[in-house]
Parts: sequence; structure tokens; C-alpha cells
Amino acid sequence: MPGAVWLALIIYGSASIQVGFFAPVCCHGSRLTNEIALSFDDGPNPEYTPQVLATLAQYNALATFFVIGKNITGNENILKQIDAAGHSIGNHSYTHSFFIDFKSVQGFKDELNQTADIVFNITGKHMKFFRPPYGVTTLHLVKAASLLNYSIIGWTVRSLDTTADTAQTIVRRVQTQIKPGAVILFHDTSDKTIEVLKQTLNFARDKGYKIVSLEQLLKIKAYV
Ligand SMILES: [Zn+2]
Repeated sequence: MPGAVWLALIIYGSASIQVGFFAPVCCHGSRLTNEIALSFDDGPNPEYTPQVLATLAQYNALATFFVIGKNITGNENILKQIDAAGHSIGNHSYTHSFFIDFKSVQGFKDELNQTADIVFNITGKHMKFFRPPYGVTTLHLVKAASLLNYSIIGWTVRSLDTTADTAQTIVRRVQTQIKPGAVILFHDTSDKTIEVLKQTLNFARDKGYKIVSLEQLLKIKAYV
């Protein structure tokens, strides 16, 4: 393979989690069912996570929360509420640093272990799900995740709910991409997400989709 093509593939593979270039990334469930799953990244957030939890409870829907370790400090009760409501918790690194992709294998292991320890101390559970910050999978990240027995979890529908787009634009973007087996990526860090979530749950109900946990959709365990 010519060097330039190889390099382009590396850059493409690193930049897009849906490609799964470096690792078997778990993205979607069976296309033959009517099941879809919801995920929320970057919390816990004292303002928005409780609203997301209340909305999910209204619709009797389960979701997975990919938490940032440093955001748990001061929000331990919110993490407990997520767990107590039957939702799953996944690892989303400790710092979510913009420069995280330059970390060594040990650097990524430290990121994962720091968050794992905090979550274990609060919930008594050992997480198995890991969603890479920014959806970027580097060789070091994949090595660290595999050494620590994490399943790397991607998505199929990126809502882009933290952009400047209006809630209606975000809702439309999500609705046009929902298919059987879809994993939707939201963030419990934005006020627009609450409205988008409500409309997405209504849409799913009207179209006959069933919201299930990531465990059920992907048939893998969230905890050891
Ligand atoms: Zn994130």
C-alpha cells in the first residue's frame, strides 16, 4: 500500500470510531429487531443529569452513562441515583483531556483506573464499558483498554447535542439516523438534550422502537 494511502487510513481510522480500524468497537445491535439504546457522555452534571434521569423515568427507559472521573467529585449522589435507577455506568476516562490521545498505554491505564476506583467506591461495581473521549481510538488506548478487559463502546447516531444547533435541528438529525439496533450518543451536559431526549423518546414510541439497555442491545455485560 502506498505510504500516503496508509497514512490517510491511519488518520481516518484514528479519527472515526465508527470505522473500528484499531479495535473491534461495539457500535450497534441486531438490525433485525426493533431495539435501540441510549447513551449519555461527559457527566455526571449537577444540573442536567437529574433532568435526564427524570425524563428517562417518565418513559420507563434505561440508558448508559459514560462518566468522566473528575466530574464525579461533588456529584457522588448523582452517580448513586444513576445506579439506583437501574441504568449502567461506563468509563469515559478521568480527565477527558483534549490531549488525551498523546497518552502512553500506562497513561490510559491510569485514566481508566482512576475513574474505575471512584465508581467502585460509590457503587461497588467494576465497569466493563469504555467509551473513548472524542470517540478517538489510538493504539495506546486500545492496548490499555484490552489489558484492563474493557469493551470499547461506540455509537451509530451522533446527536451533536452540544453544538450551537437548535433542539429541532438536533431532533431531526437523530430521527433521520435511527435504525434497528442503533446506539444514540447524547451528552448530559446540555439543556437542549432534555428536549431532544423527550422528542426522541416520543418518536421511538410512535415508530414502535423499544428502548433497551446497551447490555441487552449488544449482549455484553456492563460490569465484571
Ligand atoms: Zn466525551
